[in-house]
Amino acid sequence: MSSQPHTVLPWVVRRTRLPLLSLRCVDCGSESATTGEGRFRVNANGKLLDVWLLVRCVSCDRTGKLTVHERAPVRSFDPAELHGYRVNDPELVAARLLDPLLARRNRFTLDWTGAWRLDTPSARLDEAWPVQVEVVFEDPVPVRPERLIAQGLGLSRNEVLRRIKCDIPLRRPTSAGFTFTVMAGD
Ligand SMILES: [Zn+2]
Repeated sequence: MSSQPHTVLPWVVRRTRLPLLSLRCVDCGSESATTGEGRFRVNANGKLLDVWLLVRCVSCDRTGKLTVHERAPVRSFDPAELHGYRVNDPELVAARLLDPLLARRNRFTLDWTGAWRLDTPSARLDEAWPVQVEVVFEDPVPVRPERLIAQGLGLSRNEVLRRIKCDIPLRRPTSAGFTFTVMAGD
């Protein structure tokens, strides 16, 4: 008899686009903004640089600025990073937007609705239970494990609670990788 799972399935959570920002517009009061394609603005003031990431209200198109660097000495910048700001490098846009520091500093939260997907192996193995699943996050999307597991396995929430063994709380949103074990059904 063996209760050790022999199959480990990889699940991957990744973004499909940049998330929106929950950020109140000072003009129209809407609570949703977008970085669009992603544009930085760099302003030199002597040997100091300001760098902003531009955002746009999704309702009225008002443009706003998120502070990325404020009066930072030019020499403190990695030249590659500085170049990235000047050419609006999409990877750098994503990295800055998803950096919790930027969100704290500019008082917004990310709205991930419809901006991510869960990739699971399609072949369903007729192998013995239990099965272990390892969830990896390529992007810091906050998900409720209970809902993610229900979606990924096509199970009801009740079944999830009955058949899943997991070391982390299933109801608390997380964006850190975790593993869980699926026990045999009835
Ligand atoms: Zn607006």
